[in-house]
Amino acid sequence: MLLRVEALSKVFKRYIPSSVEISGCIDVSFDVEEGEFLGILGPSGSGKSTILKCIYRTYLPTSGNILYNSKLYGIVNIAKAPEQVILRLRLSEISYVSQFLKVIPRVSTLNLVANALLSRRKVPEVEAIKKAKDILERLGVPSKLFDAFPSTFSGGEQQKVNIAMAVVWKPRLLLLDEPTASLDMHSANQVLDLLKELKQQGTTMIGVFHDIELMKLIADRTYKVNGGYRDGFHN
Ligand code: ADP
Ligand code: MG
Repeated sequence: MLLRVEALSKVFKRYIPSSVEISGCIDVSFDVEEGEFLGILGPSGSGKSTILKCIYRTYLPTSGNILYNSKLYGIVNIAKAPEQVILRLRLSEISYVSQFLKVIPRVSTLNLVANALLSRRKVPEVEAIKKAKDILERLGVPSKLFDAFPSTFSGGEQQKVNIAMAVVWKPRLLLLDEPTASLDMHSANQVLDLLKELKQQGTTMIGVFHDIELMKLIADRTYKVNGGYRDGFHN
């Protein structure tokens, strides 16, 4: 077992203009084995992104446990671990591909991807640049864009930069939030090929997919979220 999510709930409290509670996700439980790809499926607003953000600890869960069997510390409860532990895990083991690109402005695409590797693994700069180029090429990002700033890129190109940054350092656990949502069929397949290769090299993945058919091509198992009330596994 690499990850065990136990009775995870996230409630957002809003005070303005009136006091309300919004359920992000309710009572989510699943296990993920090492090397497995777990697909998460469910209607929009059912809490799929919230689950991934709790595992990455972008959100602090309201209740429940997220037990991660880390190389660095042994079993860590991500739902309760100190910030420092989470930051170390994000630098060495856990990676996340968001639905949206958020990067430092005025850094070139190639440097963003190379830096994602350089800041995490001990590799010479030339090697990091080479790996960054390889991965961007495999994702079909035109080489004339390598020197450009991704803020001007199309949604699909930004998504590819996101994916390149998340996978270039070969994380142990990869969280993917609709990684192919803004891509055409050809690009989506390039992404899937890259993810399959990473999986063969041992990376465990949890992915929320927009397209069920695409998800079936890579997921070993599916966890279905139904607005939190009728969750369960489907094979
Ligand atoms: P999905 O990814 O399945 O479409 P989300 O996890 O994004 O769903 O959202 C689940 C619910 O939680 C939605 O009702 C959404 O409005 C709410 N939610 C998500 N993030 C926040 C937040 N930061 N603040 C308040 N509500 C949020
Ligand atoms: Mg979402």
